[in-house]
Amino acid sequence: MINFTQLVLASHNAGKLKELQAMLGGAVQLRSVGEFSQVEPEETGLSFVENAILKARNAARLSGLPALADDSGLAVDFLGGAPGIYSARYADGQGDAANNAKLLDALQGVPDEQRGAQFVCVLALVRHANDPLPILCEGLWHGRILHAASGAHGFGYDPLFWVPERNCSSAELDPTQKNQLSHRARAMALLRQRLSLA
Ligand code: IMP
Repeated sequence: MINFTQLVLASHNAGKLKELQAMLGGAVQLRSVGEFSQVEPEETGLSFVENAILKARNAARLSGLPALADDSGLAVDFLGGAPGIYSARYADGQGDAANNAKLLDALQGVPDEQRGAQFVCVLALVRHANDPLPILCEGLWHGRILHAASGAHGFGYDPLFWVPERNCSSAELDPTQKNQLSHRARAMALLRQRLSLA
């Protein structure tokens, strides 16, 4: 169904490229959009889907190749899905520790049963910049927000995200374990199916 061997990943993050390449397998080679431009598009969408499509289209336009983008974040039920697409800049760009502190503040006094949350990853693949039918794959990882940080692995909100199926925070999982369970792993498994790579 899909007959390309290269995809441009709409990310400048070498770690993300490596992680997604490992999940995708060897049949399709991921190249960074950084090979074509250092300028990043403004993420003006209101949803993970809109931002993923916008980034994928931009990478396809810059490279002339099919492109893949991911958009991810944390959606907390009690906060109506916040921080959502604003996860990286929840505390106005002050970084992970400030984001986590702000989240703990927002949930102060909220009991465990109302602290449900999910990590979300949306992958968008466009065959070309104006593709009218992007391939969309969504991965959700359900858990809840702890009352204090725990664990030293991972990044972002991992120390606050309780993983019920492992009885620990996602920052207490080693990277291999996390990559089998995570929202990105789930979305990528769907993409492999869609591309008949599974
Ligand atoms: P990005 O789209 O991968 O850059 O992620 C956006 C933001 O969502 C990150 O800066 C983190 O704050 C949060 N996030 C996404 N995935 C994860 C994860 O696996 N663990 C912890 N935080 C994450």
